[in-house]
Amino acid sequence: MFNRISPPLDLNASKKIPDIAKDIESKLDPKIEEKFPIDDSSVNITKEFEGFEKEIIEPIDAPIEIDDTDDSDQSGSAIEKVLEEGFEAIAFYKSFRFINQNPAPGYWGIFYIKPRVRALHKEIRLDLGRPSDQCLEELLKLLYGHEIYHYKVDATCLEHEAFSNKLIYRQYRNYVGRLPMSDWWEEAVANHYGLQQIDSNFQKYFEDFVRNSPGAYSNGVYKDDGSPFIPRARLAEQITQSLAGQYWHLGGDLINDVLFNTLKLSGFRSNKRTLKYDGDPQLSNTLALKNCPQYWISWYRAGKVINGLKPVSLREVTNEYIPKYLAGEIVKKTDHEFFRIDNGEQIKCPNPHNKDVMPHELKNIVRKAGMSIQDFWVERAKTNTWRRNIPRPIPVKPMTSSD
Ligand SMILES: [Zn+2]
Repeated sequence: MFNRISPPLDLNASKKIPDIAKDIESKLDPKIEEKFPIDDSSVNITKEFEGFEKEIIEPIDAPIEIDDTDDSDQSGSAIEKVLEEGFEAIAFYKSFRFINQNPAPGYWGIFYIKPRVRALHKEIRLDLGRPSDQCLEELLKLLYGHEIYHYKVDATCLEHEAFSNKLIYRQYRNYVGRLPMSDWWEEAVANHYGLQQIDSNFQKYFEDFVRNSPGAYSNGVYKDDGSPFIPRARLAEQITQSLAGQYWHLGGDLINDVLFNTLKLSGFRSNKRTLKYDGDPQLSNTLALKNCPQYWISWYRAGKVINGLKPVSLREVTNEYIPKYLAGEIVKKTDHEFFRIDNGEQIKCPNPHNKDVMPHELKNIVRKAGMSIQDFWVERAKTNTWRRNIPRPIPVKPMTSSD
């Protein structure tokens, strides 16, 4: 079934890629360890998956079981997750550079979170009333198109690093990681790329889906009026901007070179519904799109290496966001900390044995402060991570479940 969506994988090439990357990265200047000390501390399990013992990883050619008899009403849940957290709540790309880190140590590539794909597939099927296998195929095409774009950015950066010996990808990721979701332009282009893979019968449905996604994810809708697709240029700017501070003393040549090449990357126009798996003009044969492996995964340990699944540290929430931005004061300390914040609400913090706060926990916390997750990221950037213009001038009423 999946072969219709992507060509067979060249397993040899895909196994070689992490070593090639390691070799290239070991020659970069400055040394990676100087800029990015190894930090594998950020490991967390999303709550609904807590029952799983370990991550089960299966090659994507194993078909997904569809249980058409299961009519328990969960509608809204999987769609809601995407609308809150972005596409990485359903599938994610893990770089070959981080092969040994969580989630799925020892593997890299595109991972489809099986229970969530299954739930989302079911919701789409109920919404559209179209044949089950068609709905699944279109959903997987959308997800594949999105995630393969992340690989494309990664692989293109690796090629520039091989030529320039300059640290590009990690620098760029680090830079974007500190920006609010509304500035994650790579996600906009990835969604755009995904939408281009979809059959016209499903186009409107998935466009709405993208349009209602959080932050820059929503900017992926294709405007067919001849106007330029802005997120591409924004992405190119970001990649070069993240380098500018580091390398601008070397003169304009390197920056111009990288800008030129990343503009090519972002200006790449895939023809509608045809991804160029083999003959991508910008990638070497080894790095061809088809060599990015794909897996089902039963659940995941969120880690800092995954775009979008970026947990916030508990320390940031309890030492900065709540006391500084929300003027919160500790009212009780059991195995959890309880704060009273500016609008009179009480916030219970996650147990400290988890070092990170996951999106669903963060959502509960920020709602008490009258904020959405998107508001959180916007305010975080505006206040320079809760350092400027704090506490917030006016308390905001908490959100209720109907908001
Ligand atoms: Zn993404």
